[in-house]
Amino acid sequence: MSSRGSPGGPGPAHADNAFTVDLEEWFHVCGVGGALAFERWDELPARVVPTTRSLLDLLDRAGVRATFFVVGWIAERYPRLVQAVRDAGHEIGSHGYRHQRIYELDGAAFRSDLRASIGALNAAGVAAVRCFRAPEWSVNDRSLWALDTLVEEGFTVDASMAPLKMVGSLRYPRHPHIRRTGAGPILEVPPLVADRFGQVIPLGWGWGLRMSSPRRVLLAIDRLNRSGRPAVLAVHPWELDPDPPRVRLPAGLRFAHYFRLAGFADRLRAIVSGGRFGPISEIAKTAPASM
Ligand SMILES: [Zn+2]
Repeated sequence: MSSRGSPGGPGPAHADNAFTVDLEEWFHVCGVGGALAFERWDELPARVVPTTRSLLDLLDRAGVRATFFVVGWIAERYPRLVQAVRDAGHEIGSHGYRHQRIYELDGAAFRSDLRASIGALNAAGVAAVRCFRAPEWSVNDRSLWALDTLVEEGFTVDASMAPLKMVGSLRYPRHPHIRRTGAGPILEVPPLVADRFGQVIPLGWGWGLRMSSPRRVLLAIDRLNRSGRPAVLAVHPWELDPDPPRVRLPAGLRFAHYFRLAGFADRLRAIVSGGRFGPISEIAKTAPASM
């Protein structure tokens, strides 16, 4: 069982919830080729530095430290940005090197991509990489083998399994839990979902977070915390871009990437100022010993 806060009383000194960032470019979209193919990335307009700096500033003003899952390709091109993230006190994990869906890779390709991401982070000055988040929540029933690979490569935390039908499964636990693999245990830290409109929605990230009022998000988090559970939020720097480059995407992806970006920075500011957030390592301290 996770440890409890103090319902009704003053909160514990540590963070009750995790704030996470997938540090990637606006064009790191899974499953699309053409203009956004890997081979074209160096030709596309770069936005990650100013948008990440905005996010760092927003978090700094709220006194929030987070976990940043960095795409290896980004770490390789912008080592000083990674150092700025680290120097601001944030935790750094891997978001893969080429930002590929895990279930579209075989075991060797995933291990190779993972090692490339660790190498890029090491070269940028990050000594140990222990947390992982798969692009597009792509550790699911089709790729559970990836958890074994993560343990074998020294990871202790995975934050890739969404309890959501579209990208994961409604059967997945909604709270941090230990998953046993052939190589040893790993702490799985799922993102916040909520039941709304008779469905499960991604309240802690993407369109679900962007469509919701800060008040509604904070109420849901408070309710969860009162039952001794942490909430995990996830954002991308490109969601803070005041004028994001527009590209044609399939309908579902267009919604995921462009729906209600307007005003999101202000809403996010209200959310991070209104709750107790920290990096995943802080909520991991009180995570359950087993499911
Ligand atoms: Zn991503």
